[in-house]
Amino acid sequence: MNRAERERPGRREGCEHPEGFRTFKDVSYLCPVCGAELDDGGLTRWVREAERLRDESYSLEEGDGFREIVLRDRQREVYRRRKLVYELRSTPRVRAARPEMVLILHDPGDEAGSEERYDCRVFYKEPRPASAVDRFSVPARTGDILDLKSDSNPVLRSVAQKVFEFHSQRLSFTELGETAPGRRVFYANEFRL
Ligand SMILES: [Zn+2]
Repeated sequence: MNRAERERPGRREGCEHPEGFRTFKDVSYLCPVCGAELDDGGLTRWVREAERLRDESYSLEEGDGFREIVLRDRQREVYRRRKLVYELRSTPRVRAARPEMVLILHDPGDEAGSEERYDCRVFYKEPRPASAVDRFSVPARTGDILDLKSDSNPVLRSVAQKVFEFHSQRLSFTELGETAPGRRVFYANEFRL
């Protein structure tokens, strides 16, 4: 157990990580029960720990069957951990595609009654990820934009933050009686995903 893991608040003492771990951030694994965060080496040590306990039980005295029970339980734990780690490592991490560039266009609406909106176009590095969002629009109203900021899709959330910034900027122009810009471009380094 490394230092950060030991000192993590809320860590449950002696947690056997009954549900295993799930991928967390880019390189970590997280126990959903106690919140322990391990890196890849930590997972290996977690398996080794169970193997060590099992090996120790070989030296218990034979006799009333106690050794066999302990051995069986510890062997089962070794298998459980190996299986969980094997599955974890063979599942590719699903990472949100990061936009290269986002173009936000202000659509003022028209007399026929179409509402004022922001039209967003999202560009990715080629090849474009299969299910990635590449175009959407949102009404030019603070409430609608804030709603989008809590969307379950990380790309939409991230772009919504930029729409919010652009919207605020446009409002400040309008308040000063100046003409607000009609479009704005954001690049990859301005996004948090
Ligand atoms: Zn745990």
